[in-house]
Amino acid sequence: MKVYSSPNLAMVGHFKNVLEMYSIACDIRGEYRCAAAGEIPPIECWPELWVVEESQAEQARQIIREALEPTENDPGLWKCPSCDEEVEGQFTECWNCGTNRPDDEDTFQGATKFGQRGEVR
Ligand SMILES: [Zn+2]
Repeated sequence: MKVYSSPNLAMVGHFKNVLEMYSIACDIRGEYRCAAAGEIPPIECWPELWVVEESQAEQARQIIREALEPTENDPGLWKCPSCDEEVEGQFTECWNCGTNRPDDEDTFQGATKFGQRGEVR
């Protein structure tokens, strides 16, 4: 069951990781369908995220929707993976424990900024 697609494979991979944290088994499909590099491919060949168990699809969509919504108070806020502290966007490491901001988060923020948020289906 397809729950998400995006022209940005990094975003699809990001959400695969997120869903797996919730114990939702999922697969990326179609990531090699379009060979064109450096351009946003047409929507029909975007990489897709598929949830294995159909019963978990609605939960998966909900998680992705919430993740795509901009944070209301501060869109640059990121969460430290080590101590769960919320850190402001201008810092590249956690003020609390010194952990570097995860690369995933940079990809995620960048993709959002450039309008490649993809579609929740
Ligand atoms: Zn921390």
